[in-house]
Amino acid sequence: MYPWCTRPARNTVPGEHAADCDHITPRGRGGPTCSCNLAPLCRRHHRLKTHGGWTYTQPERGTYLWASPHGYTYLRNHHGTLDLGADLTTQHTAQRLRRA
Ligand SMILES: [Zn+2]
Repeated sequence: MYPWCTRPARNTVPGEHAADCDHITPRGRGGPTCSCNLAPLCRRHHRLKTHGGWTYTQPERGTYLWASPHGYTYLRNHHGTLDLGADLTTQHTAQRLRRA
């Protein structure tokens, strides 16, 4: 469910091959290990998400809204990936202009 990634997570059953399932709400913040809180990620992108500054939210089941460390946003679902561009950056810039 990483943008443009076509590599399948090997197993999305909670508790098995857990490294290929990402906790949407981290365990350290009380996120449960169940299908409602696990998203399939291949190992490479799981590492990138954990250590590379990428974040995402799940606005609805099966849909993931990613934000890159540089402020670009991508929508990923079973249809594929939609590049939303630097929407967050644009919004931040607009907010800054309004405050100035
Ligand atoms: Zn991947």
